[in-house]
Amino acid sequence: MQIPFIRPKMPGQDALVDDLNEIIGANWYTNFGPKELKFRSMIEDYVGTGVSVVTVNNATSGLMVALAAALPRGNGTESIAIASFTFAAGPQAAVWHGYRPSWIDIDERTLQPSIQSFKALHAQDPHIKGILLTNTFGIGNPEIAEWESLAEERGLPLVIDSAAGFGSLYPGGELLGSRGLCEVFSFHATKPFAIGEGGAIVTRDKSLAGRIRDLTNFGFSTDRAANSFGFNAKLPELSAAIGIRQLATFAERLADRRSTIGRYLQIFGSMPVRVPSGFLASSGCFAPIIFESAQEREAAHDELKDRGVDARKYYSPLVHQQPAFTEFMKYGDLRVSESVAPLVLSLPILPDMAEEELLFIEDALRDSLTH
Ligand SMILES: *Cc1c(COP(=O)(O)O)cnc(C)c1O
Repeated sequence: MQIPFIRPKMPGQDALVDDLNEIIGANWYTNFGPKELKFRSMIEDYVGTGVSVVTVNNATSGLMVALAAALPRGNGTESIAIASFTFAAGPQAAVWHGYRPSWIDIDERTLQPSIQSFKALHAQDPHIKGILLTNTFGIGNPEIAEWESLAEERGLPLVIDSAAGFGSLYPGGELLGSRGLCEVFSFHATKPFAIGEGGAIVTRDKSLAGRIRDLTNFGFSTDRAANSFGFNAKLPELSAAIGIRQLATFAERLADRRSTIGRYLQIFGSMPVRVPSGFLASSGCFAPIIFESAQEREAAHDELKDRGVDARKYYSPLVHQQPAFTEFMKYGDLRVSESVAPLVLSLPILPDMAEEELLFIEDALRDSLTH
């Protein structure tokens, strides 16, 4: 059996041909056409709570325009606080906007950025100008309200990288999307809500949404003159059309993913592994497990690989260990990130995942742990 890490489930061929014909009929391919407008308003309705949405061509450009709207361009000495235990796109967006990353450590239990670590970091690095909080693995940060008060108290803009978390819930039962200045989602093929390439910025602040939308279109306002330094981050009509179809069936897809999460939790329950808290309320981008030792993680990864199962070592190496990032001064202490990263393995959550696939993965894990 071969079990890939992702198995995209896209709208059928007939549906896509209909959409393409409509787009050709309208002769409108990008720049906020009818499909983009509809997709945008469907996302606004889905997240609810009166939010405004800006669609983007991917979450990395989404993070770039969100930071560009939240903070003046940096000169390379100022920093944005961000966890090193994340995907490189967030730190890359910070560098693109002229900031160095200042690395926050994570909480051992949740794998989310640690408030205590941020406070210690802020005492050492006086140049922190903003916070790019990550909802690690798309799981809603249980301390989101504390982060919001802290950011407000210290006058720091709080942008949230919720890339893998569209459809996830914060511990109070609220959908991700309404917190901080804005939350940035990815609709990449690897995410629970997938359209291929795409993303969205969701915010309660309508005027911020307007400024961000301008940034996705060269910083143009209504007068076609650049009022800010943006670039081209627009979502094409065909991608928006796929988004409309995917969102219409998202509730069923989420229920399916949540039942796979439930099965995984049963399986892990009888093994010496743990999962980050909050995983059950997430949209289940994948199933992260934390082993007791790095040897066990390596053995499980190798055993799964030998049997044709693609599992991923997110997030090793940590971002501050990656070659492009070693130039940045390291304040603070990343003890938890460095000790936990070698213990984490992420297993696939596939649409319509078969029971045999789950049992096959269970078998490989059990064998690797008893060897
Ligand atoms: C996937 C991901 C991104 C990048 O999203 P793209 O749409 O591929 O640009 C950024 N941050 C995190 C945490 C991610 O998981």
